Amino acid sequence: QTSTAIIGAGIGGIATAVRLAVRGQRVVVFEAQESFGGKMHQLELPGGYRFDGGPSLFTLPHLVDELFELAGRNPADYFRYQRLDPITEYFFADGTRVTAWADAEKFAREVEEKLGVPAADVRAFLARSGRAYDATAGTFLQKSLHKAGTYLSPDVLKALAALPQLGLTSTMHQRHEAAFPDDPRVVQLFDRFATYNGSDPYQAPATLSMIPHLEHGIGAFYPEGGIYAIAQSLVRLAEELGVEFRYNEPVREILVENGRVTGLRTDQGNYPFGQVVSNMDVVPTYRHLLPTQPAPERTLSQPRSSSALIFYWGVARRFPELGVHNIFFSEDYKREFEAIFQQQTISPDPTVYVNITSGHTPTDAPEGHENWFVMVNVPHDQGQDWPALVAQTRAAVLRRVGQALGTDIGPLIRAEHVWDPPGIAARTSSFGGALYGSSSNNTLAAFLRHPNFSRRLKGLYFCGGSVHPGGGIPLCLLSASIVSDLIEN
Ligand code: FAD
Repeated sequence: QTSTAIIGAGIGGIATAVRLAVRGQRVVVFEAQESFGGKMHQLELPGGYRFDGGPSLFTLPHLVDELFELAGRNPADYFRYQRLDPITEYFFADGTRVTAWADAEKFAREVEEKLGVPAADVRAFLARSGRAYDATAGTFLQKSLHKAGTYLSPDVLKALAALPQLGLTSTMHQRHEAAFPDDPRVVQLFDRFATYNGSDPYQAPATLSMIPHLEHGIGAFYPEGGIYAIAQSLVRLAEELGVEFRYNEPVREILVENGRVTGLRTDQGNYPFGQVVSNMDVVPTYRHLLPTQPAPERTLSQPRSSSALIFYWGVARRFPELGVHNIFFSEDYKREFEAIFQQQTISPDPTVYVNITSGHTPTDAPEGHENWFVMVNVPHDQGQDWPALVAQTRAAVLRRVGQALGTDIGPLIRAEHVWDPPGIAARTSSFGGALYGSSSNNTLAAFLRHPNFSRRLKGLYFCGGSVHPGGGIPLCLLSASIVSDLIEN
C-alpha cells in the first residue's frame, strides 16, 4: 500500500485525502492548527453567535457530492444544501436597490425595472457568459495545464482555439462597459465578480466575465448548517475511509533524497512517505519546508490576490430587507480597486459585503438577533498600518451600511471579532493573507499559477487555492481531483 502525507487540512487537502483513500492509499493529514478547515473554519462569539469564518458563497455543489459518490455513499446522508433564491441584495450608492433572483429571466426583468437597462441586454450578457464557461472552463479547470499530454486532447485544443474570442486583449471592465454602455451600475454589478478570485476588474482579462455564469446560470447554494458543514462532512467521510488526521502538528520540513521526496519532519519526529501533497500555500512551502531546494522564483513572485478585512458582529436586531448575501456598493469602484492594487491600502469608501446566515440557520444567532459577517476587500499584507486601517474602515462600514438601512448599526453590535490580513496569514499560512494565492490580473495568469506537481522533486504534489486551477472552494476541489489523478498515473 502506498502512503501519502498531506500537509494541511484545508478543503483542498481534505478532498485530496478522500480521493486517495478511495483508491486504497494510506493517507495521513498533518495540520498545524487544532482542527480542520483552514480558511473554511467557524467561530463562535459570546452571546450565542456562530459564524463561518472564511468562505460564504458556495457554487458548483456537485463537486462535493462527487466525493461521497466516489466513496459509494449517498451524499444526502452527509451533506445537504438548497439553491438560494434570491442570491444577492445589491444596494447602490445612489440608493437604488436590486435583487439578484436565481431565475435569470426574473433577474433580467428586475434590472430593467430598477435600472432601466433592457432585460434583453442582461439575457444576452448572461448567455454569452454561459457559452464562454462551457467552451473553456471545464477544460482549463479540470486538467493540469502543465503536462504536455493535456495539449493532445481534442477538448483542450478546442478550448485553446476559443480563447481569443473570449477577450484576451480587453479587460473585464471594458467588456461590461461595452455590454451596458448606458448604466454604470450594471457594469459595477458584473465587475464585482472579479473579486471572486481576488482580482481587479480594471486589469483582469475579459475571459473572467464567465464567472457570473456560476451564480446566474448554475446557481448559488446554501449548505444546511452553513459553509463549515462542507469541511465537517468531508472530514467525517475521510475518517470513515481510514484517513488519519494529526492536529497541532505543523510540518517543519519536507525530506528529500536524490531528487525524490522521502517523507517529512515535524516536532514529533521524521515520517517516511512515498508522496507528499502540500495543501499549504506554495510560497511558504518552498520558503519554510524546502529551504535548501531551488524555488520557482518567477511563479512565486506573481502578484498576490486581494485579502480581506472581516468584522464578525452579533447584531441585536433583525433586518428583513437583508438576505444571505448583501452588497453595499461604493460610489467610486475604480478608486477602490486602485487603492487595493496600486496603493496597497483601503479606499475610504469601500464596497461592503454582509453575509447573514441566521435567517437560514436560526441557531446561528439568538432570537431576534443576526450574525453579520461584514467583509471589505483589501490588499494583502505588506506591513501596512493595520490597526489604523481597521479603525478607518470600521467607521466607513458603519456609515455606508447605516445610511443604506437608515439605522445606526454601532449601538446594535453586541459581540465583535476582527480578522485582518496578518491574522489570515498567521492562522492559515497564506502568504500575505491573500485569499486566493496569486491574482488573475493578467491574461496569462491561468498559465502562470504553480502546477499541481513539482518539476524538480519526484513525489511532491500541490493542491489548494495557491496553485492551479485557483482559489475558491470549487477550484480547490478540482485541484484535489487533478492531484489524485497525477499521483495515480
Ligand atoms: P487553506 O484553507 O488555505 O488551508 C491550508 C491549511 O494548511 C490550513 O489549515 C493551515 O493551518 C495548514 N498548514 C499551513 N502550513 C502548515 C504546515 N507547515 N503544517 C501543517 N499544516 C499547515 N471561496 C469561495 O469559494 N467562496 C467564498 O465566498 C470565499 N470567501 C472567502 C472569504 C474569506 C475571508 C477567505 C479567507 C476565503 C474565502 N474564499 C472563498 C476562499 C476559500 O476559502 C479558499 O480558496 C479555500 O478555503 C482554500 O482552501 P485550501 O485548500 O487552499 O486550504
